[in-house]
Amino acid sequence: MIPFLDLKAINQRFEKEFQNSFQQFLDSGYYILGSQVKLFEANFARYCGTTHCIGVGNGLDALRLILEGYKILGKLKENDEVLVASNTYIATILAIKQAGLKPVLVEADLATYNFDLASLQKSISKKTKAIMPVHLYGQLSPMEEILKISKENNLLVIEDAAQAHGAKAKDGKRSGNIGDAAGFSFYPTKNLGAMGDGGAVTTNDDALAEVIKKLRNYGTSIKYVSDLIGFNSRLDELQAAFLNVKLPTVDSDNEKRRVIAKKYISEIKNKKITLPLYDGSENHIFHLFVVRVQNRNAFIEHLDRNGIGHLIHYPIPPHKQQALSEYSHLKFPITEQIHNEVVSIPMSPVLSEGDVKKVISVLNSY
Ligand SMILES: *Cc1c(COP(=O)(O)O)cnc(C)c1O
Repeated sequence: MIPFLDLKAINQRFEKEFQNSFQQFLDSGYYILGSQVKLFEANFARYCGTTHCIGVGNGLDALRLILEGYKILGKLKENDEVLVASNTYIATILAIKQAGLKPVLVEADLATYNFDLASLQKSISKKTKAIMPVHLYGQLSPMEEILKISKENNLLVIEDAAQAHGAKAKDGKRSGNIGDAAGFSFYPTKNLGAMGDGGAVTTNDDALAEVIKKLRNYGTSIKYVSDLIGFNSRLDELQAAFLNVKLPTVDSDNEKRRVIAKKYISEIKNKKITLPLYDGSENHIFHLFVVRVQNRNAFIEHLDRNGIGHLIHYPIPPHKQQALSEYSHLKFPITEQIHNEVVSIPMSPVLSEGDVKKVISVLNSY
């Protein structure tokens, strides 16, 4: 059996260092917003190339706090429209709604699973104030085009980089340093994953960084002095310590994923299986390796029979979720096709050469 994702094997590589970090953490006697969070914020800002990183509780809060911060700075206000891809993970949409803004769903592109740019253009109204591109499955959104559209229409660009730690554009800029601000998640399954929840905001905007630093901690900058109606969404000190251990390995892990992806793409030869579009560059970190098949149930049965783990990202499009019933009348044929046809196959930096060979041969025999 080849598991979809062996998190235990991924983390066991760092066992000794984690144990040292835990001992230091315990001995420090300081458990919230301590030296490990500070160190991680400096490390992750340097890694992304931004001037600021603010550690927060999770990826959803990272996105929400960016929007709340812009509201406090007067760049966004209640009911402003935010453009977001209709095939994203629901968190992106929830962040917009929780911040009192209006998500406007935009049809996806079947080849890249990112925005369909023509639909993006058409969705802009007088009320549109921001675009939230999602680097879905680990592949950068078409940021050059998105930045051009944002400049022409005076819109903020907020990256949902939860699946794209380290993905690099042609000019060398990494995800998190391309738009005005970005939200990251360190949920255990992400390419940079903690052993619990965690998230971060990256930005080069000094004013936004200052506001989010307050918002994540009860609206305070000085203990017990509240400037804003804040939240409690701090990156956990112990998770930050674990992330400091793992951060130096992200690039080599992403490269291992790309090597596997290239092998999958060159050796899976089956007309019934549509492989991801990939230009071979570092703009994709293969958080997920997602294929499309028309008869998904039969394909999944074939994988089960042959012991290949799989998941579906995602089975129900946001506009068909009960929680978002106000969107249920809308039609997004491409998004619906994506949700009906996608299957994610094993992809991780600890997948062995033998495992990769087995996955390829099982897919070729479908
Ligand atoms: C994981 C994820 C999030 C949310 O992250 P959490 O840490 O689980 O809150 C947001 N957007 C996308 C695209 C994600 O994959």
